[in-house]
Amino acid sequence: MQGKDLYDVTIIGGGPVGLFAAFYAGLRELKTKVIEALPQLGGQLMALYPEKPVYDVPGFPEVKAKDLVQALIQQAERYQPTIVLGQRVVSYERKNDHFVLLTDTGEEHLTRAVIIAVGIGAFRFNTLDRPGVREFEGKGVYYFVKDFEAFRGKKVLVVGGGDSAVDWALHLHPVAEKVTLIHRRTGFRAYEKNVQQLFASPVEVKLHYELKEIRGEDQVQEAVIFQNQTMEEETLPVDAVILALGFRADLGPLAQWGFEMDGRYIKVNARMETSIPGIFACGDIVSVEGLGNVKLMATGFGQAAIAAGAVKSYLDPTAKIFGGHSSDLVPKKKDRS
Ligand SMILES: Cc1cc2nc3c(=O)[nH]c(=O)nc-3n(C[C@H](O)[C@H](O)[C@H](O)COP(=O)(O)OP(=O)(O)OC[C@H]3O[C@@H](n4cnc5c(N)ncnc54)[C@H](O)[C@@H]3O)c2cc1C
Repeated sequence: MQGKDLYDVTIIGGGPVGLFAAFYAGLRELKTKVIEALPQLGGQLMALYPEKPVYDVPGFPEVKAKDLVQALIQQAERYQPTIVLGQRVVSYERKNDHFVLLTDTGEEHLTRAVIIAVGIGAFRFNTLDRPGVREFEGKGVYYFVKDFEAFRGKKVLVVGGGDSAVDWALHLHPVAEKVTLIHRRTGFRAYEKNVQQLFASPVEVKLHYELKEIRGEDQVQEAVIFQNQTMEEETLPVDAVILALGFRADLGPLAQWGFEMDGRYIKVNARMETSIPGIFACGDIVSVEGLGNVKLMATGFGQAAIAAGAVKSYLDPTAKIFGGHSSDLVPKKKDRS
């Protein structure tokens, strides 16, 4: 059974930093597993902003978040780590020379060391307790936009007044047949420039409106909205409702593992060691001694390389954290001439 194999290192979290840690662990010849709670890799990039361009990843002047994730997956795959999707690690047990990680599906994963790269923790999108919302999830009710093309030619209702709501409405109106945005207040929690653009765009913006109900047969067909001052109702024919109401993220059971914490972040030293021997951490979840928390991929990638090297040196004290350059360590492609 795959779960019972003993791995050198198991990376909890398949976000960008976890994926790069998987590449580096492979480079250091560690038998590596990645466990990701969501059904997909890519962390916040895929779950929250797959279509957004990112400008501050070294070597990429501009790259779409989802394309960066593809590149990170391809890079990690060089060493064929075992990838486990859809399992959330909840607890661990320490045996003599290894850990047993237990996931929410009841599976056990055996590993000699652990790298925690859980980012902002497992996230859940905020929803609305209104008739039709749950019923039409996956049938026209969305919590985030993964691919603008999926909305081509559709009538879309966006609910919310934050950055994502404004951003998605702006990106969707050129592809959708019609985009309506409703917000329950007048003030937006979004970049001013984008809000100005929104009001200048063809998006129909309705302030002081809220969602009452979603109706349809097999798919969303209409949304009932109401003006929250006059309580006047209106029925909109729609194919898709995007609830851009933010999300909650929490460390969940990992917060009870007994790490030394700095607020909601796991404390690590310069070697990315947590207060629990054999468990390392990197990325958005860490507060580095003398530095604190920096939520940037550029810093997270550096921490991932250090964490993999520190795991190597933990498992083999004769090994150094710096193990050499990839240009020397990766076997050259065979000369085809
Ligand atoms: C809208 C937006 C725009 C951004 N733009 C930029 C930018 O331009 N440049 C930049 O550098 N950064 C940007 N960031 C920040 C960047 O996305 C984060 O720094 C980065 O995603 C951190 O990577 P990570 O791998 O540490 O964590 P995450 O991306 O959060 O990934 C962690 C993964 O761990 C999984 N996980 C959590 N708990 C468990 C568990 N118990 N078991 C298994 N899996 C678990 C989660 O499901 C998730 O997939 C942006 C963030 C947002 C929200």
